[in-house]
Order: sequence, then C-alpha cells, then structure tokens
Amino acid sequence: MTFASNLAHAVHGGDRRALSKAITLVESTRPEDRESARELMSLLMPVAQPGFRIGVTGVPGAGKSTLIDSLGRRALADGRRVAVLAVDPSSRESGGSLLGDKTRMTHLARDGAAFIRPSPTRGVLGGTAGRTREVLLLCEAAGYDFLFVETVGVGQSEERVASMVDCVLLVLLAGAGDELSSMKRGVLEAADVIAFNKADGDRIAAVECDASALRSSLGISRAGRMPEILVVSALENTGIDSLWATLTAYHAERQAAGALSARRASQRKAWFDAAVDDALRGLFANDPELIRAFAAAEQEVESGRVAAPEAAERLVASLLARR
Ligand code: GDP
Repeated sequence: MTFASNLAHAVHGGDRRALSKAITLVESTRPEDRESARELMSLLMPVAQPGFRIGVTGVPGAGKSTLIDSLGRRALADGRRVAVLAVDPSSRESGGSLLGDKTRMTHLARDGAAFIRPSPTRGVLGGTAGRTREVLLLCEAAGYDFLFVETVGVGQSEERVASMVDCVLLVLLAGAGDELSSMKRGVLEAADVIAFNKADGDRIAAVECDASALRSSLGISRAGRMPEILVVSALENTGIDSLWATLTAYHAERQAAGALSARRASQRKAWFDAAVDDALRGLFANDPELIRAFAAAEQEVESGRVAAPEAAERLVASLLARR
C-alpha cells in the first residue's frame, strides 16, 4: 500500500482527519507532493458520488456564513452530510482575507457531521483556489453530499465558483440597489437562487419591497430561467425552510432533466482548459532560470517596452529551448 492508497482508503471510509490531510496534499504545490496527489485523485475520482454543490456569493457582511450555518443545520436535520469550503479571492493585491478569520458557522462547526474547511492559505503560486474542484471531489469521495462553496461577490471569484457548482445562491441585502448596479451584471445573471437576507426587526418591509422590485425587473430583463427570489433571516432562522425546499427542488428538477450532468460535463471541459494553462505556467514556476526570464519579460511588458504576445512567444521559445 502506498501513502496515497492508504489515504484514499481512509478518506473513502469517511475519516475526517484523513480528508483534511488529503486536501492539504492536493493543495500542496511542493513538487514531491504532486505525484501522491495525482495518485490520490485517480483512486478517489471513480468512487466520488456527485453531491449537490451550492456556490454562495454576496458582498462581505451580507450574511453568507450565517446563512450557510442555518441552511447547513437544515440539511443535517434531513440526514445530509454537509461540507463547507471557502474560495477566498483576496488577491495578493488586497493582502487580506475578505472572508475573514472570524469564528464562522458556530453551530455547524460544533456538529460532527459537518466538515468545514477554512480558507486556504493565499499567496501560493498558482492560487489554491485552483484546487477547489479537486477538494470538492475529495469531499464527495468522503461521502459529503451537500456542499457549500462560499465566496465573496466582488466579481472575479464567483465566475470561477459558478464554473464548479450545480447552483449559485446569491445573498443580497435590502437597499442593495447601488450594490446591484455596481455589481457586474454577470453576478446577477449567474444566480440560480437569490436570498434577500436580514429580513428581521424593522427591516422586514424594506426587504420584501426590494425583493419584489428585483422580481419584476428580472422578469423584464432576463431571458430564460428566472431565479427564485426569497426573503430570509439567517439570524432568526426564518424563511430557511422555504429556501431549503427551493434548493432541493431545483436540484431534483435539474437532475431529472439531465441538466446537472450536462453542466458538470461542460465544467470538466473548462477545468481541463484551465488545467492546461496551469500546467504550462507550472513549467515556468519550477525552474529558477525560467522564473527569472518570466519576471524579466513581465517587467518589459509592464513598462510598455515590449508587446505582451511577443514577450509570451519569446518566453515559450526559451522554455522549449531548455527541454
Ligand atoms: P458574511 O461576511 O457574508 O459571511 O456575513 P456574516 O454571516 O459574517 O454576517 C455579517 C453580520 O451580519 C454578522 O454580524 C451577522 O450576525 C449578521 N447577520 C447575518 N445574518 C443576519 C440576519 O439574518 N439578520 C441580522 N439582523 N443580522 C444578520
């Protein structure tokens, strides 16, 4: 038995510590870990049963974590096994974690049946978010069948999340009008279900009002499937049963129509395209001389001395020359 096959066995058996270890291995960029990671994935992919993957997006403070906490508890009550992952888009530029290091999902965290993976470390070359698809597969192989992928609605990350989940749940707040117009149109377009959160206290009427305004404006502007728009309070746990029912009905309906497997097939194709790009970039990342050549080319492009395509072609030529 190799290290990877032992680990695969434990993950498939539902061992949570093994799952954490497997995720760390898959997220590792150390060349010596890549072989084991590949072996692990090839052993576990065939046994991973597709769960229901929900991407949860919205601005910081919208209540995503709180909502996942209450929806997650609802799912557990139904006998589902819940996993929560975070894709943190906080780039090297912003330097900080938008998802924060606050204690999150306190109820779920206490429940042995839920698996919560905190945001991966950032700043790693290639970006660990690139591994989220593998991490989802690992969780499915470990028997998790209700998977949340949380991200911040700031534009670049939810597109990526939408490309790896079955359903995008957008969390909005009342008075989000400005936020919506500044939000990329794509964020709204990608939403399969929309939850207006914090409908409690004296905000209820305002939230209801904004929800129906969005219903009518989407009804006019959107061709194709209209997202369901619900009003909830994650904190007071109201509207959660309806949201749960909407999500599970969405899943059942799309599954019956064959839409989910078609969506996954096209996602795998996009994944392959991205993986080819990553693999090519990886060739540059592992060779000190190529790292220097990359940085020099980048600087030339940045300063406006050389056009990007020319610099890229030269860089590829120097890569091929070294092989
Ligand atoms: P996230 O940044 O989107 O994950 O938001 P959080 O879940 O961390 O919530 C941000 C703040 O809003 C926290 O102080 C929550 O307690 C609060 N919050 C979340 N959901 C609700 C809600 O339904 N009603 C009210 N009143 N507050 C909420």
